[in-house]
Amino acid sequence: MAKRILFLFSDTGGGHRAAANAIIDGLHLEYPGQFDTDMVDFLRYYSPRPLRYSPRLYPSLSHMKSAWKLTYESMNGPKRSRAVNQITYPYLRRSSERLIAENPADMIVSVHPLANAVIPRAMRHNPVPFVTVVTDMVTTHAFWYSPRADLVIVPTDQAMNRGIRLGLKADHMKVVGQPVSPDFACEIESKEELKREHGWTEDTPVALLVGGGDGMGPVRRVARAINDAEVPVTLAVICGRNEELYENVSKLNWRIPHHVYGFTSEMPRFMKAADIFITKAGPGSISEAFICGLPMVMYACLPGQEEGNVDYVLDGKAGLWAPDPETVVQAVTNLVEAPAIRATMAEASLNLARPNAAREIAHVLAAQLQK
Ligand code: UDP
Repeated sequence: MAKRILFLFSDTGGGHRAAANAIIDGLHLEYPGQFDTDMVDFLRYYSPRPLRYSPRLYPSLSHMKSAWKLTYESMNGPKRSRAVNQITYPYLRRSSERLIAENPADMIVSVHPLANAVIPRAMRHNPVPFVTVVTDMVTTHAFWYSPRADLVIVPTDQAMNRGIRLGLKADHMKVVGQPVSPDFACEIESKEELKREHGWTEDTPVALLVGGGDGMGPVRRVARAINDAEVPVTLAVICGRNEELYENVSKLNWRIPHHVYGFTSEMPRFMKAADIFITKAGPGSISEAFICGLPMVMYACLPGQEEGNVDYVLDGKAGLWAPDPETVVQAVTNLVEAPAIRATMAEASLNLARPNAAREIAHVLAAQLQK
């Protein structure tokens, strides 16, 4: 009989859902018919008020950068995170037990920092393996590393070292890579064919501008600055689930070739067609860009969890940090005018790619179930 694996995620951004989907795809590709998989947004459906509103509030909360950083840091240490988990457990226990009772599984996999202490604790009457897959790259929050998890899978050596500093043993963790959809590793049409398919001109390089799954950060201001400066690119803007952003970007007084899209489930086809990637420093987007060999211009990062991603890309020479629209204009102009630099950066980006991470994580999960 197929074993059932339950994935705990939440739509706080697009990255956790994308990571869960990627691992599920990896499992079904590597072990056809052997696993039943399910995903639950545990914050939305199995947490008390006001926590259950987090997916809805996340885009606005993450705009309040100072408050976000303060909250993030105030709980980010071994003692502080343990204290928070201890204090909040009575408030979260009942909904967590309900989650476990209503979603029986042979294994639970968390791809979200807030599930890792409370859920294994609530599982004490129903012990099945609990695995955490960390989906932040470098400056990972202490909440990711619970000693109650049977295994913590991390994307980078830096995330592993962070776990060790927070008190986890090295053999409690495994470095595999950021899980991104196996579709990114598939051979598809050439860049030129994909550009034609999208109706993008081949006369100028195409810069793809994305603000994560929720269209976060100053996407409109960046698009407007590139347009106002008449940077010689075609600008393709993906607004994700942010409908207001879609409206606003569509209404700009456009002077350069441009294309504006809402949420797409065809991200590999967009990224493989593009020449430059302008992005918030989200771990999913960055890891996907590595696989597509895209030079990156990062225009924003969430305080705390995404700050290390910027250094990771810069250290790997795969991109540029441009924290205001004017610097983005400069960075994109430089990349357009210097194809050789663009090519070197594209190569560096490819060097950081872990295209098989989702499939490899599938193997680790299968092995953990065998134990
Ligand atoms: N994404 C998508 N469609 C869109 C916009 C984004 O599938 O229209 C995906 C993107 O490919 C990536 C994820 O959403 O996998 C965004 O994850 P990231 O970690 O970069 O940022 P987050 O949204 O979690 O802040």
